[in-house]
Amino acid sequence: MRHLISTATLTREEAILLLDTAEDMAATQDREVKKLPALRGVTVVNLFYEDSTRTRISFEAAEKRLSADVINFAAKGSSVSKGESLKDTAQTLHAVGADAVVIRHPASGAAQMLAERGWINAPIINAGDGCHEHPTQALLDAFTLRRRLHGNKARGRGLDGARVVIVGDVLHSRVARSNVWLLGALGAEVELVGPPTLLPGEFDRWPATTGYDLDAALARKPDAVMMLRIQAERMRAAFFPHTREYARMWGLTEQRFRSLPEDTVVMHPGPMNRGLEISSAAADSKQATVLEQVANGVSVRMAALYLLCSGVKEGTN
Ligand code: ASP
Repeated sequence: MRHLISTATLTREEAILLLDTAEDMAATQDREVKKLPALRGVTVVNLFYEDSTRTRISFEAAEKRLSADVINFAAKGSSVSKGESLKDTAQTLHAVGADAVVIRHPASGAAQMLAERGWINAPIINAGDGCHEHPTQALLDAFTLRRRLHGNKARGRGLDGARVVIVGDVLHSRVARSNVWLLGALGAEVELVGPPTLLPGEFDRWPATTGYDLDAALARKPDAVMMLRIQAERMRAAFFPHTREYARMWGLTEQRFRSLPEDTVVMHPGPMNRGLEISSAAADSKQATVLEQVANGVSVRMAALYLLCSGVKEGTN
């Protein structure tokens, strides 16, 4: 693995290696001194062309706990055309000696472009590219679910036979795409549910089943329900008549949540639209993993950075 751009290209073995390494990283985070020397002397640049709270903070925490030198570059609002600005920026980063780049960009394919064009010779980690992919989010989701389902016997395992329902704005969700591929690689069964307007036409090529009826999907008692945020910033048309209507049909309302078995895991990548795709009763319950997902994100990103970057200084990468 040279870069982490997409989960579609991850093998089961690579995915399990990432999750097991994240377990090792998590074990170090219970110590009084959390810092490891693994990436001492390695310069990591966080290149964020789009808003982020959790992901940016989480990457920075992971880099610092591995003793990397961190440069944060927030390029939001740049008026330069996207392709050009990315090339210029990459060449600047190369010139200042960046050893690895974490990139978030509103254009699908931006991370791949950076990895392939040769503007910079460094591992690239995709921290979310448009509606395309968000691989570290899917990895932290899988890590969280694996722990909830298998506890301390999680190491070395996939998610074989686990049934996961992903609900909502699949069309605009990089989280859904990355999860479908990764959960599939780990042996889980995925069902996508949402309004017909927000379930992409290309879904039949995905390793998932689809449906429009949330109550029917929940009645089949899945192991986990993953609620997606309505990505209003990516919508250029009306995809559903009214938010009240959306919440009634596809939201995890309090009533729906109370009808779930007590061990159904409730997931959301954040930021949540409370009262729209998820009720507070569900989000704040013991079944919800929202904050666990955030906490696990640091260990998962430490694992990805460690596996991709630990050889960069010796030229072994
Ligand atoms: N934080 C996730 C992302 O950046 C999910 C979301 O924004 O809805 O894709």
